[in-house]
Amino acid sequence: MSDKTTNISELGEFGLIDHLTKNFELKNATSLVGVGDDAAVISISEEDALLISTDMLIEGIHFNLMYMPLKHLGYKAVATNVSDICAMNGVAEQITVSLAVSSRFPLEALEELYEGIHIACEKFNVDLVGGDTTSSVSGLTINISVVGRAKKKDIAYRNGAKEFDLLVVTGDLGAAYIGLQVLEREKNVFNANPNIQPDLDGHDYIIERQLKPEARVDIIGYLKELDVVPTSMIDISDGLASEILHLCKASKVGCHIYDEKIPIDSKTSLTAIEFNLDPSTCALNGGEDYELLFTIAQADFDKVKGNPHMTFIGHMTNEKDGTYFIDKNGSAIGLKAQGWNHFQG
Ligand code: ADP
Ligand code: MG
Repeated sequence: MSDKTTNISELGEFGLIDHLTKNFELKNATSLVGVGDDAAVISISEEDALLISTDMLIEGIHFNLMYMPLKHLGYKAVATNVSDICAMNGVAEQITVSLAVSSRFPLEALEELYEGIHIACEKFNVDLVGGDTTSSVSGLTINISVVGRAKKKDIAYRNGAKEFDLLVVTGDLGAAYIGLQVLEREKNVFNANPNIQPDLDGHDYIIERQLKPEARVDIIGYLKELDVVPTSMIDISDGLASEILHLCKASKVGCHIYDEKIPIDSKTSLTAIEFNLDPSTCALNGGEDYELLFTIAQADFDKVKGNPHMTFIGHMTNEKDGTYFIDKNGSAIGLKAQGWNHFQG
């Protein structure tokens, strides 16, 4: 280490990852893809590959136990990992779970966490095959790694999108972020006066989207049935804008996405407006929806058209043409990633 110190917030999360990993070259022929996609790709036979991904959740950064029940946390930790395997068009098969836990947590709390992990393992058909357990000076950290499998020919990378490909998003967006706003508001009300009961009525959908996100394993099944292999794919953990920019950067293309086409649930919109937030901004920058964003070749348009789980939101353009969000007045605004940045603040 030299005398000069650089604040890591200057690099941002992705700049930091690039900086730290840029000197590593893949030495083994089996390491097909390393850093930079939703999962690493390891060749296991001529036709098949393993997919490996890992995610860490830290108390106070990624979750607040005041409103996140441990059972939900366990479920969410598995779902977000399985989501990264879905983002490669693969099927998750195994997970490992590592915990760092302070003495503040009684056995019953960890049993609750594992109940959520168990429910998720049943739901997503994955096996818990190991992990690690250690103490922590404060709080709870949970790290899950996941192993999945795919036929090499079916794997959807971030870098395969081509000019004129169509951009598709699954489900609806922005709800998880708005759910978080409701939970934060009720937490503040409770902190100010613990006698006031939380008012979560009518917000079930958006709160569930925050506390219990689902990995879209169903979409991987639908794509197979439709006989469509996305030309590129990513899961939406950080917000639509950030993820689209990842696809564009990796694929060296530009894009046009259309505000009016972004799927937003009506309850999400109404609650966003209650909070004086623009629903589209919540979808673009909110994050944690764990929907899938992918591109398909125009030739596959008819196969996807009309599918109730998939919405066309735009198309890819030439890299030179830039990355744009077309608002409801038809004005083109440069896309910016304003998703979570853990190193700021
Ligand atoms: P995702 O949001 O899909 O989980 P991330 O944004 O966390 O992906 O990570 C982007 C890529 O960088 C992934 O390929 C991941 O494996 C890799 N990565 C993240 N952190 C590190 C690290 N500290 N060292 C090496 N690779 C990393
Ligand atoms: Mg991902």
